[in-house]
Amino acid sequence: MFIFNEKSKKELSSCHKDLQMIFNEVIKVINISVLEGYRTLETQRKYFKEGKSRCDGVNNKSLHQSNPSMAVDVSPYPIDFSEKEKAKARFYFLAGIVFDTANRLLRENKITHRIVWGGDWNSNIKFDDQSFDDLPHFELKSI
Ligand SMILES: [Zn+2]
Repeated sequence: MFIFNEKSKKELSSCHKDLQMIFNEVIKVINISVLEGYRTLETQRKYFKEGKSRCDGVNNKSLHQSNPSMAVDVSPYPIDFSEKEKAKARFYFLAGIVFDTANRLLRENKITHRIVWGGDWNSNIKFDDQSFDDLPHFELKSI
């Protein structure tokens, strides 16, 4: 079992309670870091300009801008953002655990949303039909 560091705790606490419940379960089986939950307009615009997000923050808002945040960015720990195939594979491995955890919590009526992952926006389990990969990104979707 692993525990969140202070930065991860702070970021996760800015998220919707469903995200908190999911990732407090996920860290029991895989070591992870919560990179970012709630995001200000200023930060969103910065990411848009840098090409890190497709949302400009005004006309197209990110779910990170909700308060509490309806989106969270999470990485396996230790963090490796290199383009190496096996570094990326760690995010796919994590996403499977997140889906399994979220589906279980949903069946147990402990959460009220489904999860959408930035590595498979349309949730069809095909990863080659994506125009934009955001592998650390998970967001809540109403059922
Ligand atoms: Zn995100």
